[in-house]
Amino acid sequence: MTTAWIALVAIVGSLIGSFANVVVYRWPRGESVVRPRSRCPGCGRTLSPIDLVPVLSWLALRGRCRTCGARISTRYPLVEAGFALAFGVLAWAYPIETVGLTVLPLLVLVSMLGMAALIDFDTYLLPDGLTLPAIAVGIVGAWLYHPAAGLPTPGEAAVGAAVAAGVLVLINRLGGLVLRRLRDTEERLWPFSLDAVNVAALAGMLGGRWWALAAGLAQVALSALARRPVRLPEPWLYALWLTALIVALGGWTLTWGVDLLEALAGSLIGAGAFALLGAVWWWIADLRATEPRTSPTAEAGAPEDDEGEPVAMGFGDVKLAAALGALLGSVGFMVGLLLAVVIGAVVGVAQRLLGGSRFVPFGPFLVVGALLAWAFGDALVGWYLDLLGV
Ligand SMILES: [Zn+2]
Repeated sequence: MTTAWIALVAIVGSLIGSFANVVVYRWPRGESVVRPRSRCPGCGRTLSPIDLVPVLSWLALRGRCRTCGARISTRYPLVEAGFALAFGVLAWAYPIETVGLTVLPLLVLVSMLGMAALIDFDTYLLPDGLTLPAIAVGIVGAWLYHPAAGLPTPGEAAVGAAVAAGVLVLINRLGGLVLRRLRDTEERLWPFSLDAVNVAALAGMLGGRWWALAAGLAQVALSALARRPVRLPEPWLYALWLTALIVALGGWTLTWGVDLLEALAGSLIGAGAFALLGAVWWWIADLRATEPRTSPTAEAGAPEDDEGEPVAMGFGDVKLAAALGALLGSVGFMVGLLLAVVIGAVVGVAQRLLGGSRFVPFGPFLVVGALLAWAFGDALVGWYLDLLGV
């Protein structure tokens, strides 16, 4: 029974991988992911089911079109095999006999993350239509997790999403004050802006998570009432934020008596929550807009800042991080982020040495780091504590 189930889930995974290839190619081009049926780019022949058997068709045809002999990229069977492997491992790690339906939201979430990482790799864009629903799957799906599965509860998933988004949005804001490379130029102001994020971050550092949420809400409400963005100077807010952080690090309790951990958690949760609320607001606003908002196309290449340098970490990464935070919880996400930075640095150095020049965005590293943290996080933390001799 168990082996048959794992094999079945792996086969379904290879089919989802085949679908992922279509999504990754068509979504950034604004094409339908269901119609028309796939065609050979060489001769235009509509592919028949026999051409579309995951992995096997590619192997049988030795990577060429049956009619015209055009090469078919090795990436297609690799993605199909990767999805099959991921699905099989998940079915094995979360056996349906012991943890029930736990595996279902995980399969959906991992599929969406895989597609997002590939699209980001190809086009430097992370579609909101993929990352924002993935956050919802992570949080809502947590209701289906079995307590014995060792996964976040719905509350932990929601906090994990906010904390993860908060870490990235604060790196983005603080980094943007110093480094142009981190500045995402696309800022939207009313009624949801990054001002709510900044205000929530500061209030959280002073009084914890409820202060953060109240302050962010107040900024949005005041902006809505005033019918214009209520703005506070960002450098001053973050100067105060840093001061409050140093005070908390020094072990002095602030006037409102929150300790360092709650100050940090409050700041991250507040900043992340308002970054995500804003993201959802603007996503819906764009969907409702009759004129499609001009967005960079697949051919445009890496988004650049005003000095022509690629943006190292954009706002898409904030939403992607939130989906990963919902899957891993706050602590697991931090381990994943650390791994992503290390892997990104290693790949970057290797690329320099080998003379490669293609800029790889951060999103794929974030997904790979998080999946490694998910699989090996406990072992890694244990190894590190051993190293410290704790
Ligand atoms: Zn062909």
